[in-house]
Amino acid sequence: MRRAKTGWDMDDRTLCVVHPKVSLEGFASLAVPTYRASTIPFPDSAAYAGRLDRGDDSYVYGLYGTPTTRTLEKQLAALERAERCFLTPSGQSAIFIAMAALLEPGDTVLITDSVYAPVRDLATSDLARFGVKPVFFDPSDPEGPEKLLDDSVRMIWVESPGSTTMEILDLPAIVRMAKARGILVGCDNTWATPYLLKPLELGADISVQALSKYVGGHSDVLMGSIAVKDPQLAARIKGMMWRTGTGVSPDDCSLVLRGLETLTVRLAHSGTVGERLARWIAARPTVARVLHPALETAPGHAIWKRDFKGASGVFTVVLHDDAVPHVPAALDELTLISIGASWGGTRSLVAPMSVAKYRTASRVDGADMHLRFSIGLEAEEDLERDLERFFDRIEALLSMPERRLARSSV
Ligand SMILES: *Cc1c(COP(=O)(O)O)cnc(C)c1O
Repeated sequence: MRRAKTGWDMDDRTLCVVHPKVSLEGFASLAVPTYRASTIPFPDSAAYAGRLDRGDDSYVYGLYGTPTTRTLEKQLAALERAERCFLTPSGQSAIFIAMAALLEPGDTVLITDSVYAPVRDLATSDLARFGVKPVFFDPSDPEGPEKLLDDSVRMIWVESPGSTTMEILDLPAIVRMAKARGILVGCDNTWATPYLLKPLELGADISVQALSKYVGGHSDVLMGSIAVKDPQLAARIKGMMWRTGTGVSPDDCSLVLRGLETLTVRLAHSGTVGERLARWIAARPTVARVLHPALETAPGHAIWKRDFKGASGVFTVVLHDDAVPHVPAALDELTLISIGASWGGTRSLVAPMSVAKYRTASRVDGADMHLRFSIGLEAEEDLERDLERFFDRIEALLSMPERRLARSSV
């Protein structure tokens, strides 16, 4: 007998560690089971010997996937219209794996200037250290990447809308230019998720998301994904994942699988309420600009309308310079909207950000105070009341010196 059967013939010490087999007959669940494993035992010695020759869907070692992680990979691949999807411990690590797997010493990577800031840091420190040259392009210049092309360019990295400053890129135009020269196009699709934009359908080679944001959706899990169509790219990314020991926890996957089920209804709410609040905010007197691609005044509005199915709930507000000193006091008036980074959860957030130090190819005008909002799932009226407290406070502080002046002149 090769395999132990649990029964009263075994010692208690053995009974504690050998699980009884239970029937799955007649059982079903709409939830995906959480399969945890480091070791994957094999039914016989031949199966063990041939474990590496059984293709992508086989199970070898917990780090390389369990049925739980594979379910999430396949579900995301379907949404991305991808051949393969890989899961990484964070959005940032997804970007690192994609770049490190596909770039060689001597290559140049063109990166949008409003890229997620830690990617700039990664590119200028570690990628540069390994002989890859990062060159940043101005996302508001339609010729931005083309001007910088030379024979060493191997990849163009885009993020649209850009982090904080929200520039919309013409992805199909960038793809046409890149394809003609055999350059790879990678896209950070975290803002839109594959529900609102499908980069691979627009011709990108790689679509990366921080699942930590909208797909996880509840501010309690970190994960990233890399989706590709081309099996050769997939093989190189898989190799990099294996060699760097990169994998994710099935428990975390079950949180992301749960979040994914409500992604589209959450995005619909956050997108609709976010756009309405963006318009409401734009009408307040202390506001210089609202950076939201659904606003007709946004520079990339026409491209956004052409390529995206809608907006998510993240946008940025730029105040008039004289209002900026009053932002900390006004933020402290907020009772519902939390102050914090990251986004895409059920709770609305605001983060005051300065971006000039993260821009080398584009200009930041004015006082460089960017209020990035992420609209969650609260009722619009409650959020509006909270925002009213914020703007009332700024407006009151701005008019105070004048009032004092008026009084003293009486
Ligand atoms: C948050 C974010 C990331 C990184 O995701 P983590 O899971 O936090 O590492 C990457 N890109 C964009 C656009 C993001 O907003």
